[in-house]
Amino acid sequence: MGIGYELVCVDCKRSLEMGKIYWRDESGTPLESTTLDGVFDRVNMRWHKRDDFFGRAIEAFLIQHRNHEIRFVPEGVDELIATGNEIVEPLEADEIIAAQKNVFPDPAQELKEWERNHREPK
Ligand SMILES: [Zn+2]
Repeated sequence: MGIGYELVCVDCKRSLEMGKIYWRDESGTPLESTTLDGVFDRVNMRWHKRDDFFGRAIEAFLIQHRNHEIRFVPEGVDELIATGNEIVEPLEADEIIAAQKNVFPDPAQELKEWERNHREPK
């Protein structure tokens, strides 16, 4: 029932599956607040949400893709984002966490990059 959502970096063509969004429980009663499955932990074969694993995966994804165009979209949009033979590659949450290194962001440089890449042509 229903389709899942994913966090996609449009610039890098990488995605993180976030599962389905829920607004009511199994008996049909509306939940207090809308929620989602979270991020999948393939090692322990379970979803994580609102916990440390979830936080670390989202944090690492955001830091690794800072200053990039990130979208939270239903499955299928990734196929629309794909260009030519460049598909959107799904990433595993544990890989994203493991890939998180100590980086030294330069916000001023990133601001310049953004201006350069998004300036209207004259
Ligand atoms: Zn990116």
